[in-house]
Amino acid sequence: MSEIIIFLGMPGCGKGTHAARLATDFGYKHLSTGDLLRAEVDNATPLGKKVDAIISAGNFVSDDLISEVVLKNIQENQNYILDGFPRNLNQAKILAPFLKEKAGKKLLGVVYLELSREVVIQRLMVRGRKDDNLETIKTRLEIYFKETLPLIDFYCKNSTVYRVNTNDDIDVVYKKILKTVKLK
Ligand code: ADP
Repeated sequence: MSEIIIFLGMPGCGKGTHAARLATDFGYKHLSTGDLLRAEVDNATPLGKKVDAIISAGNFVSDDLISEVVLKNIQENQNYILDGFPRNLNQAKILAPFLKEKAGKKLLGVVYLELSREVVIQRLMVRGRKDDNLETIKTRLEIYFKETLPLIDFYCKNSTVYRVNTNDDIDVVYKKILKTVKLK
């Protein structure tokens, strides 16, 4: 049975970087909702036009829309690292039966990258993506604490949560992830 790993953590915690690296090293496909949505915006597709303003303001796109985008990208016989989905309980509850009943995939666990709010704000201000200005960052963090953080409790009950503190250099963090998750 193919496998799924979910990456969770605040915006700017390094999810994208480590998810991509782990995916390459262990033969998973990296599915980043942020990357998918930004590609739609860059290509000015109907979906991109719909979500551009929402992303720029730091808000979530609708659960139905993002779920559809993600689920249609999940194929059989392929391992995935999900980066940016699910991001709230409703999305997690859409994903769970899909993995089990439709995609035949086992959720291996959730990698939870922890970092303080202060460090995250510093990192995002330096990164300077279009949605990385102070006002938008504050909105994203507020939504993160309200909507995304409860997923940790949810997955502690329903799966395995691997906690890794990411206040270190990228290579050090990556080694910590490898040690904690122990993929073969
Ligand atoms: P970050 O985690 O640094 O905020 P991402 O690249 O993961 O950035 O996501 C960028 C934006 O895309 C989010 O702020 C949000 O607007 C939208 N987005 C991504 N994933 C989801 C999701 N699962 N549900 C709703 N909106 C999403």
